[in-house]
Order: sequence, then structure tokens, then C-alpha cells
Amino acid sequence: MNVLNSGKVFYLQQSIQRTIVLLLLLWISIANAFAVEKLPLVQLNYQNKELKLLRAEITENIKQAGYLNAGKIQWRRYIVKKEDNFFMIMAKVMLDHDTLSSVNSLASLWDLEPGDEWLLPNTRGIAVRMQTERAAEKYKIPAYAIVNVPGKAGYVFLPGISLHPDERTYFNLATFLRPVAGRLSSGFGKRKDPFEKKERFHKGIDIACPIGSQVVASAAGKVEFAGRKGGYGVTVIINHGNGYRSLYGHLSKVKIKKGATVKRGETIALSGNTGASTGPHLHFEIHREGKPRRPDFKGHYSTGK
Ligand SMILES: [Zn+2]
Repeated sequence: MNVLNSGKVFYLQQSIQRTIVLLLLLWISIANAFAVEKLPLVQLNYQNKELKLLRAEITENIKQAGYLNAGKIQWRRYIVKKEDNFFMIMAKVMLDHDTLSSVNSLASLWDLEPGDEWLLPNTRGIAVRMQTERAAEKYKIPAYAIVNVPGKAGYVFLPGISLHPDERTYFNLATFLRPVAGRLSSGFGKRKDPFEKKERFHKGIDIACPIGSQVVASAAGKVEFAGRKGGYGVTVIINHGNGYRSLYGHLSKVKIKKGATVKRGETIALSGNTGASTGPHLHFEIHREGKPRRPDFKGHYSTGK
């Protein structure tokens, strides 16, 4: 075989390998989606068989010293109802704050809506986006105790581990300030897009305020972006660590530079009406692990300035 041919064969082999890998990944993601759908459903009444089982298993599993055998970890689903709140679900399913918030990537105690589907493991622990080996090393637990989180590619569940206290504070949103004084003019979630006249998902909240209002850092962090960003207009993004970021859009003037470290409540910009905006307001987003979450300040309804 000459060099040219062997090159072709090599290329062919490579593309076959790539196709196989892609098909495998596709299969895994489809299998994952179905796996979640098939999990037993829990209802929050004490007569529900699955809830009884879940509570019994959790009682048993948390009694055991050390880590569970990964084979014993079972998952169930719960569909959030209108009358629910975080603490009620927590009490009924006997899981804790850290387990529910990390497994379901909730940004705050108020990050729940009827119809949301939650995953419930039968022991307490946390979910992290990390490879098993790396998680075993970082959290000092045996790799055999770690399991994948069904339907959440890249996430592993670490039984018996708690959140870092900082992350818990973030979750309680005690850390986040309201970034500007003003009236909430549009909430988080589905709404009619004012430009396209069709349903769209509003990834943050809008706070109506006169152009030039002082916008403050909702929490301490590092400025990751400061400049123009498409429809967002003049924008600032702050990385707060622990997987949290906040975004401030439609600004008129940026007062800090990319890379700067900012304190909570420090002025970072002046509000405006830049980008795809229908009137002067601040568009504000909170992201956890790359996903927009509901910025809600109930109970912590403080204004920065
Ligand atoms: Zn907005």
C-alpha cells in the first residue's frame, strides 16, 4: 500500500470512528431522556406508594454510616404543583436543601413553577457537573459511590456530600441585591415578544428605570464581559463563582472594565435603552451553571442604591 492510499484508509477509519462516536452519543442522550420518563412518579400525599417507599429508603440510607453502594441509589420524579413551595416539598420528600437544589439546578428557593419536573434521589447528597474521577478526588469519596444523574449529561451525584456554605448562601439569594431601583415591568419566563409578536422565553426580569440610573453589582464577583452584545445592547456580565453569573443589559454607560473585581452593591453601569429595548429599563439575568434562572428577591427585596 502506498503512502497516499494508507492516508485515505486512515481518513476513512477516522470518519467511521467519528460516526460511531456520534451515533453512540445520540443513543446515550435518547436513552437518557427515556430513562427519566420511566422513573416512578411521586405525589406528595402520604398515601402515595412511591412517596412511602422514598421516605422509607431515605430513612434507611441516611442511617448508614459512610457511603452508599452506588447500586442502592434510586431515582424518582416529581411534577411541581401550583400549591407547592420549596420547603413543603423538602419536608415531604425528606430530602434536604442541598440535595434538591443541586440535583434540580435551582437558582433560588423560589425557582419553581407548576409543571417543572424534579428528580428525587433516595438519599441526601449533591449533584455536580464533573467527571467521576475528578469528583472522587475533590470531595474525597470513593468513585464506586458516585452515580450519574439520569437525564443530566455530565452531572454526577455524590451521596453524603453537602454544598459549600457559599453556594448555599447564593441559593438562598441572600447574596443577590436588586441591581437598580425601579418597578418590575416584566417577569421571568414565557411572554409575548414585543418585536416578533410570538411566545418567547424571557431569560431575566426587566426593571423600569430612567436612563442614567445607577446599576449595581447584584453580588460580588469578577467582570467577565463589558461591551455591546447584540439585542442586549450595552451589557455587563459578572462571574460570582460557584457556577453563578449575572447579566445587566440595555445599559447606557459601563463604569467598570472587563477583568475588574467588583463588590456587592458597587456601581457598575448606568441604565439605558440600548439594543432591542422598547423603553428605558434594566434587563437583569441570573444564571446558574450556564442556565438562566428566575431572579427573585422575595424576602430579600433590598435595593442596591
Ligand atoms: Zn428583559
